[in-house]
Amino acid sequence: MHKLAIALLLLTPALVCSSLNAGTMVRDYPAMKISPHTWVIEGPLGYPSVENQGFMNNPAFVITGEGVVVIDPGSSVQAGRMVLKQLKEITDKPVTHVLDTHVHGDHWLGNQAISEAYPEAEFLAHPEMIRRARDFAADRWLQIMEDSTEGFTSGTRAVVPETSIDDGKTLETGGIHFRIYAPGAAHSGTDIMIEVVEDKLLFLGDNVTYKRLPRLNDATFKGSINACDVALNTDAGTFVPGHGPVGGREIVEAYKTYLASLYELASKYYEEDLADFEMKPKIVEALNSYADWVNFEDEVGRHISLAILEYEGSM
Ligand SMILES: [Zn+2]
Repeated sequence: MHKLAIALLLLTPALVCSSLNAGTMVRDYPAMKISPHTWVIEGPLGYPSVENQGFMNNPAFVITGEGVVVIDPGSSVQAGRMVLKQLKEITDKPVTHVLDTHVHGDHWLGNQAISEAYPEAEFLAHPEMIRRARDFAADRWLQIMEDSTEGFTSGTRAVVPETSIDDGKTLETGGIHFRIYAPGAAHSGTDIMIEVVEDKLLFLGDNVTYKRLPRLNDATFKGSINACDVALNTDAGTFVPGHGPVGGREIVEAYKTYLASLYELASKYYEEDLADFEMKPKIVEALNSYADWVNFEDEVGRHISLAILEYEGSM
C-alpha cells in the first residue's frame, strides 16, 4: 500500500505534463523603440506554426511615469515570458496595465505570463472581447495554438481581462493618455485601437495588418474600411499594425485600398453574375501589388467569398 502511494506520487508529474514538446519561452525577438515612450517587438509573419513557436503578433510596451502598459503580449505563456524578458532589458518598472486589442488568441494568451509576474496588473479589453473570450474563444484559441505548434504552447491558460474599456474612453496612467477607438464590426467585433496621445502613435490591432493578410472570418469589409478612416483621422503619425512592420499613414492606406478594391470588384462581378471561382483570377490580377504579402495566396479566395456574402446581405 505504502509502496503504491509512492509510485503514484512519482508518476504524477509525468501525467500532469500534457505535452513532450511544451516550451518554456519563445526564442528572443528584440524590442525596438519607435517613439518617446513606446517599444514594439515585430513578430514573424504567417500563421502560428512549429517553426515560429506560435509567436506572430506585435507585442508592445509603453513606459509611463508609474510603470509599464503592455499591449497584446502574444499568443501563449511562452510568448509572454519572452516579452517580459525584452522588457526587463529596458526598465525595472512594474507592469501596471495590459490592453488586449481583440479576442483572437494570438494577441492575448500571453496575459498569463504578465499576471504571474505582476499579480497587481489590471487587464483591459473591449466588453465584447471579454464576453466572447469567456464564452468560447479562449478555449478555441488555446486549442488552435497547441495544435499548430504541436504542443509548444502547452501549459498556457486563458487570463481573460476583467475590466471593460470602450470607444471614447481614455486610460491615464503615469502622465500618458491612452485614448480608445472602437468602431464596430471591424476585424472581429471586439476590437479596440489605442492612441498613445503624447507619442502621436496608434495601435491598430488587426483592424489593419501590413505585408501580411489576416483571416477575415469575423470581420466585415465595410466596418474594416471605416476603422481605417477612423485611424487616419487621428493625430497619429506612427501606426502599429496587429501584424507586419510599423510605419506611417501609408500602411493604413495600403490595407484600406486592398479591402476597398476587393469589395468593390467582388460586388461588380457579382452583379455581372460571375461565380466566385470565375471572378477570382480577375481580382487576383487587379490586386497583384499585394501578391507578395504573406498569406495572399491562402486568403484572397476566402476574402472574395466573404465579400460576396457581405454584399448579398447588404441588398
Ligand atoms: Zn485577429
